[in-house]
Amino acid sequence: MTVHQPLEFFVDPSRCIGCQSCVQACSECDTHRGESMIHLEFIDRGHSVQTVPMVCMHCEQPTCAEVCPADAIKRTADGVVQSARKPRCIACGNCVMACPFGVPELYIDRAIMMKCDMCYDRTSVGKRPMCATVCPSQALFFGTREQIEAIRPQSMPTNRFRFGEQVITTRVSVMVPRAPAPAPLLDVTAAMDERPANRTVRLNVIGAIDPLPDPFAEVEV
Ligand code: SF4
Ligand code: SF4
Repeated sequence: MTVHQPLEFFVDPSRCIGCQSCVQACSECDTHRGESMIHLEFIDRGHSVQTVPMVCMHCEQPTCAEVCPADAIKRTADGVVQSARKPRCIACGNCVMACPFGVPELYIDRAIMMKCDMCYDRTSVGKRPMCATVCPSQALFFGTREQIEAIRPQSMPTNRFRFGEQVITTRVSVMVPRAPAPAPLLDVTAAMDERPANRTVRLNVIGAIDPLPDPFAEVEV
């Protein structure tokens, strides 16, 4: 029997070329009313053109939902954190401040927070999210773990992130370089336990013994 692997979302920032196709495709989604729910971050704008596509990471314990006083953000059974529910959202902005990844956006004119819901209308029926369908470099990839491992042998997915003392686990994974093989352990204090081997030191001794020894003769000490 064939076992189908679940479809997952993988983000590989190192492959992003900053073309904005994903942002544009997101804004064209029927449910987004012309707004993009994702954006690009610039790593170090002063020195690099490197960009990172920021989608919702769909945290296992979403901070955005935890701080929402109106209980407007719901996480579905399959682990997708939904955008705020219109009848509940009071546009307080708590989720915007709380999200460690800087994802939710507040739309003051419409009095609602909107964010990436991984194109739930598409992904819940096995289709790819809009952004992943257009990304030319596959910085945004939606597929199985087997597929991503086959096309990116040098990278591995991670979905655990540390923010200070807090560790956050997410449904979306970020591709990071595979760690090189660990270096052999170098014990820098091992020499302290070493004992020098017995050895013979030859010295030339000038003695006052009669008869006067040869000053250049070798003696054992
Ligand atoms: S990444 Fe931010 S918006 Fe998305 S689920 Fe986590 S806390 Fe909420
Ligand atoms: S479509 Fe892909 S390459 Fe272009 S900006 Fe978005 S993530 Fe980067």
